[in-house]
Amino acid sequence: MDVVTIGESMAVFSPESTPLMRYAATYSRKFGGAESNVAIGLTRLGHQVGWISKVGNDELGKGLLSFIRGEGVNVDQVKVDASAPTGLYFKEVRSASNVRVEYYRKGSAASQLTPNDLNEDYIAGAQFLHITGITPALSESCYETIMHSISIAKENGVKVVFDPNLRKKLWSEERARQVLLEIAAKSDVVLPGVAEGEFMFGEQDPEKLGELFLNYGASLVIIKVGAKGAYYFTKEEQQLVPGFPVDQVIDPVGAGDGFAAGVISGLLDQLSLYEVVERANAVGALATQIPGDFEGLPTREEIDQFLNATDVEDI
Ligand code: ATP
Repeated sequence: MDVVTIGESMAVFSPESTPLMRYAATYSRKFGGAESNVAIGLTRLGHQVGWISKVGNDELGKGLLSFIRGEGVNVDQVKVDASAPTGLYFKEVRSASNVRVEYYRKGSAASQLTPNDLNEDYIAGAQFLHITGITPALSESCYETIMHSISIAKENGVKVVFDPNLRKKLWSEERARQVLLEIAAKSDVVLPGVAEGEFMFGEQDPEKLGELFLNYGASLVIIKVGAKGAYYFTKEEQQLVPGFPVDQVIDPVGAGDGFAAGVISGLLDQLSLYEVVERANAVGALATQIPGDFEGLPTREEIDQFLNATDVEDI
């Protein structure tokens, strides 16, 4: 594998007849989860990716597993847990800036992950371990699983990429801050948005945040600033890489996951840091153009076409 990621995926229900959950009588069912979105994004860009998780021994779990396998992600390390159900969530997109989710994931199969579910060789063979701040919020055993995965990565020279993905609905602010900082200190690459940086350090200025994250332990920090793009910071250099303007955001959910896939893809391809962030901005922008959490993630051919067209101001 080039990349291994760990986390929960769920069945996602979106209202069909009206955008409002309260009034909708019919829903469409898709599958989603931050880590599997990143895995799918990376697979579309031509990389080998393994996803570690648990699903319930139920119909949604079976559908979810075959869907993610069908996208080309390796699911050899996904376990079926007969003692708990596959998680669900409902997603309401009122407008690009007003998206609401309601989770039914407490006690889900994925929240039963434990350090014993980790196969050390599987993680040790990857170049990157991708983790988010969602998984440690699911349960104490998920927190321990993530910390153990980081130890395995560190012992085996696997670089840890961390997207804080703050989800205030899943844990107390105090615990979230403590754990997100603990993981940031152990990660090689950190991908916060400004709001997450502010939550963790009480600072809004991207340049100051970059310095704070670097001093905390990461060697590469990339701070997302929405449509404006993202700043990257290392001890040697820092720069804003402008985003790609889009006419209209159709669905903002998944832009950050696409961005993470673009960063890891660029690092695997050994691009310059500017090009890494440029690829990430392009994947993030394209992700906003199609409804759904992962549907808009581009293939390698599509991203190359998009970036080439942009070079000649031809989009
Ligand atoms: P998510 O809601 O998926 O967790 P996030 O808050 O982590 O997202 P954002 O900053 O919203 O991340 O978006 C990630 C990246 O996607 C941005 O840095 C940018 O490159 C791209 N992007 C997001 N929104 C837009 C937009 N409106 N126009 C162009 N690019 C965008």
